[in-house]
Amino acid sequence: MSISIVIVGSGPSGFYVAEALIKSEADVTIDIIDRLPTPYGLIRGGVAPDHQSTKRVTRAYERTALNEKVRYYGNVELGRDISLDELRATYDAVVLTIGMPGDSKLMVRGEEKTGVIGSAAFVGWYNGHPDFSRLAPDLNSKNVVVIGNGNVAVDIARVLVKTPKEMTEADLPQHVSNAIQASPITDVYMVGRRGPVEAKFTNVELREMGNLENAAAIVDPSDLPEEVTGDWSNRDRRLRERNLESLKGFAAETRDGKRKAVHFTFYAKPVEILGDEKVTGIRLEKTTVIDGRAQGTGEFWDIECSLVIPAIGYALEPVQDIPFDENTGTIRNVDGRVEEGVYVAGWAKRGPTGVIGTNKPDGKAAAEQILEDIGSGTKPGRDSFEARLKSREVRWIDFAAWQQIDAAEIANAPTGSPREKFVTTEDMLSLLSNSSS
Ligand code: NAP
Repeated sequence: MSISIVIVGSGPSGFYVAEALIKSEADVTIDIIDRLPTPYGLIRGGVAPDHQSTKRVTRAYERTALNEKVRYYGNVELGRDISLDELRATYDAVVLTIGMPGDSKLMVRGEEKTGVIGSAAFVGWYNGHPDFSRLAPDLNSKNVVVIGNGNVAVDIARVLVKTPKEMTEADLPQHVSNAIQASPITDVYMVGRRGPVEAKFTNVELREMGNLENAAAIVDPSDLPEEVTGDWSNRDRRLRERNLESLKGFAAETRDGKRKAVHFTFYAKPVEILGDEKVTGIRLEKTTVIDGRAQGTGEFWDIECSLVIPAIGYALEPVQDIPFDENTGTIRNVDGRVEEGVYVAGWAKRGPTGVIGTNKPDGKAAAEQILEDIGSGTKPGRDSFEARLKSREVRWIDFAAWQQIDAAEIANAPTGSPREKFVTTEDMLSLLSNSSS
């Protein structure tokens, strides 16, 4: 009997597991479930709306989804519609590729104030993720502070300062685009607790900040060392040298009449979010880097703002019945094996780092483990799964239904944009009801 496998989560890591299983040419059936109607996880909900070329990787995932061994079940949530125990009883292997959907905590005083919005939520909002469609961040602020020096911080800063013309080919939902363009935001402070050499953004993303139509990239030259020192691998050293070179280029420029600016604010550690219930500013402490760690110097200053966006890394909340490793914040696993018949891949396995392609070897490893551990199928698989969903009146979205949603989004696109997203599950389901009636 063929080995039945269910993959929970249809982001890149889920699709790379499916792709590797197909390539193995083993006798398998692969079901991919996702709690949203729409597939592709962070490609749809995380990759910046103005980076459409990155999003094109979904074409490969689409080929995987259309393979005869694969079925897609959107709008099916682990824990709500089906339990892990039920999946284990139904499938020979369960692969958890649920990513890291939440925000790491900043752990500073005032973090709970209105106006502090973590990057997962903010990026989810501007990418039309149904979980955040009602976020309505208050953008009535001249200054915005984005905390972190990673690629997500760069994405957020860039989306806030690009002109409508620069965003023409993006798939920013209309209401989000209107809110950003109507806002008085002129200055975005990107705050790094360490220095320019320690920053985690990659060079292509950094360089883009120097080529914006109406936003300047501002760097204090005194923050920039002559050269990269320290103990880095050759690859890391080259990246840091390129970043330093780009930052020196920014430091040599002035605002030059541009309406907006992104201020690269290094050696600055957040110590308190100011205000009563609502944010009115942030207090920072000047740092110095000792043995790679940011140490406070006792020198403080404030930036006035009503929006603070910590972009300090994603996190996974413990999920019911799934073994969780408190130390790493990941699903507890030994090299991808969770417990008999249960596997994990992607960020939920190794933490929220790496680019999309980093998940590919992970997917291959999970597929190899499954085929190594399970000789042939013994569990009922797909038919039993569908019967259970039907008995619970779960309305799942198959791949053809997703393609209908996709086609409607493309048809609704404003000129130049690839699509106008549906931002609520209800709207997607009602589109499908209307078109089937
Ligand atoms: P990241 O690369 O890990 O960056 C997190 C940043 O937050 C770092 O600068 C870190 O500083 C800072 N930070 C962490 N805790 C902090 C705290 N308590 N206070 C102040 N600062 C703190 O994470 P990310 O930006 O969320 O990106 C996640 C992954 O997705 C990365 O691998 C990234 O490259 C990838 N990604 C790639 C792209 C792209 O390729 N275009 C776009 C988006 C995301 P320290 O270094 O001092 O810890």
